[in-house]
Amino acid sequence: MNIFVLLKRTFDTEEAIQLENGEIQEDGAEFIINPYDEYAVEEAIQKRDALGGEVTVVTVGPEDADKELRTALAMGADKAVRISIEDDVEDADHVTISKVLATYLKEQDADLIFAGNVAIDGGSGQVAPRVAELLDMNYVTTITGLEIDGTTATVTRDVEGDTEVIEVALPLLVTAQQGLNEPRYPSLPGIMKAKKKPLEELELMDIDLDEDEIEAKIETIERFLPEEKKAGRILEGDMSTQVSELVQLLRTEAKVI
Ligand SMILES: Cc1cc2nc3c(=O)[nH]c(=O)nc-3n(C[C@H](O)[C@H](O)[C@H](O)COP(=O)(O)OP(=O)(O)OC[C@H]3O[C@@H](n4cnc5c(N)ncnc54)[C@H](O)[C@@H]3O)c2cc1C
Repeated sequence: MNIFVLLKRTFDTEEAIQLENGEIQEDGAEFIINPYDEYAVEEAIQKRDALGGEVTVVTVGPEDADKELRTALAMGADKAVRISIEDDVEDADHVTISKVLATYLKEQDADLIFAGNVAIDGGSGQVAPRVAELLDMNYVTTITGLEIDGTTATVTRDVEGDTEVIEVALPLLVTAQQGLNEPRYPSLPGIMKAKKKPLEELELMDIDLDEDEIEAKIETIERFLPEEKKAGRILEGDMSTQVSELVQLLRTEAKVI
């Protein structure tokens, strides 16, 4: 089974975002594997262990993303590929990223591709479905269960609190939702082994893609932080006084009634 995982390096969820001149400051920020991609890596490893084959983790990102790729290798992935585009393009969006990933994957003869349901920073949830569309491959999003029998997959997917079970033919791309599994921590031997596993670096010309073909379609007009939350207010007095004051405030201050 030829298995691929699309992995994104993201801000640590604990990080406070700092803006300077409308740009997000990355200096000193902690980066992690996008948490949904950890479920994807774990599921890929489990499927390889059960069915045989190989797991390749792929990212589009800068050299710093090698750290997250090595973590995936330490968890048990076999190979990693980083496609570097920052020398060729200034702005990238999900159209850019999905085109780069699909162009690379087109030549790989993948049976299964795992991705995260959404990236916790960009958060568009578009990259994986776009990749599948470009590859003309079946795909199922937000999965919480996956069984493979020959060339057929039975997928359980989360549909906002309910579940849906779908039978679908391989090759298949799925996006991982929380609950799919419990991602393992890299073990010490895993970390030692990961240092020797192959991590290939590719550029646009290696995958025969021109920078004009991956031009971003989205222009960011402005970035700003949400307004700081004002402190709450506790109304005093008996119930009828509180109710009339509340109605008054909703009318005059909040202007919602
Ligand atoms: C060199 C470079 C320059 C960029 N410049 C800009 C910029 O100028 N403005 C801006 O707003 N954004 C920029 N980005 C970020 C880029 O737009 C996002 O990475 C991309 O749009 C993904 O969208 P998302 O975060 O909404 O992912 P989602 O679609 O929410 O991600 C879902 C899943 O797709 C997969 N995935 C997503 N991104 C990647 C990736 N990079 N590699 C592998 N798998 C992935 C993962 O499995 C992830 O869980 C840049 C990124 C790069 C690499």
